[in-house]
Amino acid sequence: MAVDYQSLAVKGVQALSPYQPGKPIDELARELGLNPSEIIKLASNENPLGPSEKAMTAARKALDEMCLYPDGNGFELKQALSHRFGVEMDQITLGNGSNDVLEVIARCFADADSDVVFSQYAFAVYPIVAQAIGARGISVPARDWGHDLDAMADAVTDRTKLVFVANPNNPTGTVHTRQALEGFLDRIPERVLVVLDEAYCEYLVGDEYPDGIQLLDRYPNLIVCRTFSKAWGLAALRVGYTVSSPAIADILNRVRQPFNVDTVALCAATAVLSDEAYLQKSREVNEAGLRQLADGFDRMGLPYIPSVGNFIAVEVGESAMGVYQALLAHGVIVRPVAGYGMPRHLRVSVGLPHENERFLDALAEALTSAGQGA
Ligand SMILES: *Cc1c(COP(=O)(O)O)cnc(C)c1O
Repeated sequence: MAVDYQSLAVKGVQALSPYQPGKPIDELARELGLNPSEIIKLASNENPLGPSEKAMTAARKALDEMCLYPDGNGFELKQALSHRFGVEMDQITLGNGSNDVLEVIARCFADADSDVVFSQYAFAVYPIVAQAIGARGISVPARDWGHDLDAMADAVTDRTKLVFVANPNNPTGTVHTRQALEGFLDRIPERVLVVLDEAYCEYLVGDEYPDGIQLLDRYPNLIVCRTFSKAWGLAALRVGYTVSSPAIADILNRVRQPFNVDTVALCAATAVLSDEAYLQKSREVNEAGLRQLADGFDRMGLPYIPSVGNFIAVEVGESAMGVYQALLAHGVIVRPVAGYGMPRHLRVSVGLPHENERFLDALAEALTSAGQGA
């Protein structure tokens, strides 16, 4: 009798649905017979500026060494991060994107006897990594689309090993103040690890927002997770990192793949950290783009969730999938978020001014042709 290989997978994995990434430009080009250059992708919160020149130069140079294994310790990148943030190098764990470290954290600290707490509408990777290791994921109902930090603290039990907090959160763009976050951390027992995912922290302006790295001294159970994929513009290269206590980093280091970040990525990330002008430009383009999109939604009378990230979730109504498809037909790729339990919304990443405009125009047409408003 034929073996049912699906049934051989461990329980958590059997019930798992894969992460749904944004649609690649080339895929849509193939499907519609379009030239890829006519398509704009505002679906994966990528940096619309294109890569930093400093990163490009370093990456090209690194290719000369492609037949050698990378530095498995990532010395230069860790050193640059350590200088930038005033932490010790042994507090840093590098990952193949921060998704890699999120998964390593789950495998290191949770198992089938554990609960892993996260928020409704939070980043999809948290439930995936929890379920894959057989842990029980506890999704805490959101408040005003953001994390209900009080309810999340209430959800912690003796079984809880990990709590994931995205600040700002993706896909809703909501954020908590330093005061709110500290109040939450004060309520979490020290034996429970809090993973503070700050993938969009570089976009935050104003000192009312927390900087997780500054909180590590006070909260030793904190793991701060960051990425080069968004404001730093290196999504394809896959580089992320955590900053934690050395003891936690030592554990993560045992489980991560020894060469999880490649040489090109290490060199580009190290170089981009010295490109303050690129980061500044990223922030400016983002701030202006958020305003442009919000103004456009206001004009169309579409409700949206105010965002501090490099994306914004807009409520287009019941047939959000139809609107998404109509946008695709216009060569504009955004992100449906029904998988997040937000079937009336679409998430759009901030693009360059002409891209935002093209998206808004296409959206207005899509809504008319779909014969519906919000
Ligand atoms: C984009 C994103 C990440 C980063 O993923 P990488 O693997 O570093 O590219 C992490 N967390 C959140 C909430 C994100 O939106």
